Amino acid sequence: MHLKRLELTGFKSFAKKSELEFNTSTTAIVGPNGSGKSNVAEAFRFVLGEQSVKSMRGKRTEDLIWNGSQMAPRANRASVKLTFDNSPQQNSEGITQRLLPIDFDTVTIERVIHRDSSSEYLVNGSVVRLKDIIELLSGAHIGASGHHIISQGEADRVLSVNVRERKVMIEDALGLKVYHYKKDESRRKLEKTRENIEKVESLRREIKPHLSFLGKQVAKLEKAQELAEALKAAYQEYFAREKRYLDETKARLDDEVRPLKERSQVLEKQLADAKETLSKLEGKDEKSDEVVAIEEKLKAVEDKKNACVLALGRIEGEIDAVKRQREREEKKASEQKNATVSVSLIQPHIDELERALEAGNDASALATLVATARRILGAIRTALSSGDNFDHAAALRELDDTQSLLNSRKGEHEQEKAAIDTEERDLRARYTQIQKSIQEDQTSSRDAERSVFAFSNELATVRMSLERLYGHLESLRLEDEEYKRDLGEAGALIGREALSFASSDSSFVAEATRDAQHDRKKSIERMKIRLEDAGIAGADELMKEYKETQERDAFLEREVLDLQTSAASLESLIVDLETKLFEEFTTGLGKINTQFSEFFSLMFGGGSAGLKLIKEPVRKRRSIIDELEGEVPEESVEEGEQETQEGVEIDINLPRKKVKSLEMLSGGERALTSIALIFAMSQVNPPPFIILDETDAALDEANSKRYGDMIESLAQRTQLIVITHNRETMSRAGVLYGVTMGRDAVSQLLSVSFTEAVEVAK
Ligand code: ATP
Repeated sequence: MHLKRLELTGFKSFAKKSELEFNTSTTAIVGPNGSGKSNVAEAFRFVLGEQSVKSMRGKRTEDLIWNGSQMAPRANRASVKLTFDNSPQQNSEGITQRLLPIDFDTVTIERVIHRDSSSEYLVNGSVVRLKDIIELLSGAHIGASGHHIISQGEADRVLSVNVRERKVMIEDALGLKVYHYKKDESRRKLEKTRENIEKVESLRREIKPHLSFLGKQVAKLEKAQELAEALKAAYQEYFAREKRYLDETKARLDDEVRPLKERSQVLEKQLADAKETLSKLEGKDEKSDEVVAIEEKLKAVEDKKNACVLALGRIEGEIDAVKRQREREEKKASEQKNATVSVSLIQPHIDELERALEAGNDASALATLVATARRILGAIRTALSSGDNFDHAAALRELDDTQSLLNSRKGEHEQEKAAIDTEERDLRARYTQIQKSIQEDQTSSRDAERSVFAFSNELATVRMSLERLYGHLESLRLEDEEYKRDLGEAGALIGREALSFASSDSSFVAEATRDAQHDRKKSIERMKIRLEDAGIAGADELMKEYKETQERDAFLEREVLDLQTSAASLESLIVDLETKLFEEFTTGLGKINTQFSEFFSLMFGGGSAGLKLIKEPVRKRRSIIDELEGEVPEESVEEGEQETQEGVEIDINLPRKKVKSLEMLSGGERALTSIALIFAMSQVNPPPFIILDETDAALDEANSKRYGDMIESLAQRTQLIVITHNRETMSRAGVLYGVTMGRDAVSQLLSVSFTEAVEVAK
């Protein structure tokens, strides 16, 4: 026995807390009509998680809460607690196990509702979800609307429902609801999964054009990057060579410039010196001035000298004249005295001369001398012959005085002339010196001019060479500037890598001509243009977006795959569940059939009954549009659209009657048949308890007895709670509860004896 206790508080007519203990296998609830017995059965449904308020005879959840009466105020909450003995017990197959799959010996399930329709479930005081309750109970073959709670007038339902609904009832009895539940859940999940697949695929479809656009962009970008790589390499080679060229050329030009510069400095200095020398020499004009001055002075001196000489000459002439006079006087005197001596003295000499002449010496000169001597001798002879008486001594004295005076004057003039001569000599010496100096200067000047000319010439040549080299250096500087500009450009375009090159690389030797390098530059320019056309700009963002989109797409692809995998596993789970359902249903149906037949013949004292699985054609459910557009004639449904559904049909064979159809049964016969079927159903998978609400209402005394027997046999395997007015049924119960309702409209429970029960039931 698993059912222990039921507590109702504020549920329907049970305003106050009411308790039912289930200590026996059969508990009967008795009481007058309207006292609240069926509310007890509904309390079971309620606490087991029934969601249909209608099946508990209400319109709204609120209807399940004690609504108050004139004498008792209404409640705000309704609570029903059901307590199970969950200690391990031996089942019909001899296996010891707990009723509910939860590790508690006592399990109390409670459901509470409030007027605001909120509802909560508790298991042993802990709040749980409805799903947890359903799962917990399904293993024990109990559920809210299960076959084990047969409400008033409901026994007949198993006969009155259509074949499909009956199949559902049987499945429920067989405990297959859990499979249906799982199947429905799996289907819902599958549907959701498919929706998700569709959503994800649609997302992928949405992404696809963008992704392919980005892909193309990235391909372009990759090409551009390849180009950039090539450009980088080209740049590196170009820069390496260019640097080498610039460095080497600069070094070479510097080497060439340096000596020239030095030479030029030397030459400049030499030229300056030479010029200075020259200018110094050119500045010596005063020398010529001095020459002129000396010349003028010389001229003056000469004039002075001439005058002096003239005077001197004159004086000398006068002296000579005086002398001659004196000589004449002396001669005359001497002639007077010495004429004879002289002639004899002279004669030998003249003779000697004539001999010499005759000997052939210088004839003409000697002849002249001889002639002269002869003439003089003649004169002397004349003089001697003439005889002279004049005072020649006095004349001589007078002449001596004159001569002495003249000599004195001559001495003065000679002194003067000597002074003039000295002056002249000095001037001439100075003149010669200056002239020499001028000549020397002229020679130096010419040398200096030659030097200036030579230095200027060489300097001009050196300067020309320097200018040429400076020109080269200037073009090199321009090339260097361009090189640096190119470096900057390459750095901006390609990045720092383009600038990492080794100009020392021996493979990058400076080329003999610049043509190859110019070709490289041209090629770089072409590559740059191509690269600019390729539009490498925004590459990072593009790559980022492409990567993100690709990742998103890959994620979505995985998502689709995952979803497809889970859809496939759900599909296979559904197939498994369907297989299981089919197998268990078929087996269960066979067992029910056996029991049904037995119970039927027991009830009717013979005859037979059975259940049959059939496939019933059903019209395909029409769409809402079809519904709105009006009736569609049956024949318009095409054959392919026919659907079949499985159902369970009941075959009966009453003893001694040819009644085959359920419709032909009397009320009592229907009741017996339905009871037989319900009991048969409950026996295949016995639930821990069965509630029968006035299932026996339509039975006559004889059938009541049979019903009583069946209850007893049923109670051996399942706890029974029977709500009844039937004495016979009451008599089979171990415990009886009377339900009464006083003036306050509140249902009250009390344990009663059989006699009291019979009394209360009235
Ligand atoms: P019968 O023997 O005729 O089947 P019963 O004993 O099974 O009667 P129930 O149908 O269980 O009686 O009880 C019905 C009673 O419960 C009614 O009197 C109804 O007014 C009362 N009732 C139902 N819901 C509420 C509620 N929310 N608040 C107060 N009373 C309620």
